[in-house]
Amino acid sequence: MHTGALDELCAQMQREIPGFSVGFKDQSWHQRALGTLLWPLNRSYVNGYVTVLGRTAWWPNEQRFRNDPKVLGTLLHERVHLWDWRDNPLWFPASYVLFGPVVWTKRAHWERRGYVIDLVLQQRQGTPIEWQKKWMKQVFCGSDYGWMWPNPSAIEAWVDQVRERGLATELDGALLASTQAWVDRIAPPRP
Ligand SMILES: [Zn+2]
Repeated sequence: MHTGALDELCAQMQREIPGFSVGFKDQSWHQRALGTLLWPLNRSYVNGYVTVLGRTAWWPNEQRFRNDPKVLGTLLHERVHLWDWRDNPLWFPASYVLFGPVVWTKRAHWERRGYVIDLVLQQRQGTPIEWQKKWMKQVFCGSDYGWMWPNPSAIEAWVDQVRERGLATELDGALLASTQAWVDRIAPPRP
């Protein structure tokens, strides 16, 4: 259904991030090893999460990449991480590997820049705000990402802000403009 758009977005990302590729965790011994290592924190690393490492976006498996109706939105989220990694080659990976209050905060900052896309797409598709707040508290306050922003009331205020200001809550410049164009195409604004 979205194969044309998916190929187009991948081609655009290859121009933006030379060497960009999509990998599949189920076919990679080191991704499966990482999944075992992360098991105590995150039990769905291999089967449930898409992860950016350097210039590769790792999907659980090829079928999920090709058939998931939400793949374009997920790829746009990962695209923000690819841009941020490219533009912050020290800070970005450090904040995912190291633990510490400053690094935690930074990591939540990167993830807010990704999740703003998921939230705007959901809002256009009619997802209720209360559901979004519950989901974001699970993501930011839970163990999956290592409790990176354990502040439920700040998260609720942030979701309110995103519902009002959209992508501009987190993104700006060329990344905002190109992401907005894709979001408008995937889920046109409702009249
Ligand atoms: Zn992310």
